[in-house]
Amino acid sequence: MVATTTIASAVTARFAGVESIIGNTPLLAIDYEIRGRKRTIFAKCEQMNFTGSIKDRMALHILRQAYAEGRIRPGDTIVEATSGNTGISFAALGRALGHAVTIFMPNWMSRERMDLIHSLGANIVPVTKAQGGFLGSIRMAEELAAQRGDVFLPRQFSNTANVEAHEQTTGPELYWQLKYAGLTADAFVAGVGTGGTVMGVGRFLKKMTPATRIYPMEPAESPTLSTGCKIGQHRIQGISDEFVPAILQLEQLEKVIDISDGDSILMAQKLAGELGLAVGISSGANFLAAVKVQDSLGDDAVVATVFADDNKKYLSTDLLRDEPAKPHHLSPGITLAGFRALSRVCRACTAVRD
Ligand code: PMP
Repeated sequence: MVATTTIASAVTARFAGVESIIGNTPLLAIDYEIRGRKRTIFAKCEQMNFTGSIKDRMALHILRQAYAEGRIRPGDTIVEATSGNTGISFAALGRALGHAVTIFMPNWMSRERMDLIHSLGANIVPVTKAQGGFLGSIRMAEELAAQRGDVFLPRQFSNTANVEAHEQTTGPELYWQLKYAGLTADAFVAGVGTGGTVMGVGRFLKKMTPATRIYPMEPAESPTLSTGCKIGQHRIQGISDEFVPAILQLEQLEKVIDISDGDSILMAQKLAGELGLAVGISSGANFLAAVKVQDSLGDDAVVATVFADDNKKYLSTDLLRDEPAKPHHLSPGITLAGFRALSRVCRACTAVRD
């Protein structure tokens, strides 16, 4: 009994440590001009989380819930199939909570992502296209868990705690940050990896304001959500992982917005080069998706999105190369004017008032 209580309080203290540096991110109001019209887009700075991405929120919530329900024990190995940011989050959180971590990931992901996961003490198992790519990674993680009794599988693509993480943190933060500035979101848009962000934030915003429109975004070069199957190739790492994830409920969302990967790269370069906002490729895509939503809802529509991670994981990718502008691209017509941060809202306020 004493031993169990000691373990529980040690884990509680470790959770408190990581909880203090995950979430509660700034919300930026970014002013820009397009076709001679002045507009503003709101973006949550998720690159400022513990390991530099939005996935920390999901990893923390999944582990916290698994502990609460007794589905993970001290000494268990955390095993996850991931395209990168999730692996980095589980590797860091796993170590912070005292767990060994094994990550199965496609072997074509960026070098920085693999190196980061290694540096966090996790074991990486690279999965080739011949072994099944993303789906092969998931299968291999399940097989390992079936062979051993001491494995915890977070299952981010099907675990509803992934959606809950955003329904309980990202969504309320966004809602109250806008509210204290006298604003209400007309729309929220986010690129879909697992769908946790768009479903969870969407659920909270719609609960508070049913008229808020929630849009999923996918790469124009690989429209898996629109077609229902894996098709084409794209360079927006972190979204569109070859299948429609189980937690994504497309029927609850507006129509899918498609954004080209080259345009996303140009937009991310522009945010970094002109405003110093060093964000990743999916953040460029999310910004452009928000621009498209404003094209349909009006210049004054309050449209919010997330900057899912920063640019450091993409230094060896096309993000740092010259990207040719194409006639259909939106980013060349966008002039960024500046940004300001809306005040953060204390956690107790969002918890009490939601
Ligand atoms: N952007 C990046 C860079 C990501 O790593 C992810 C998560 N895979 C997403 C966007 C999409 O987030 P979600 O899984 O919540 O749909």
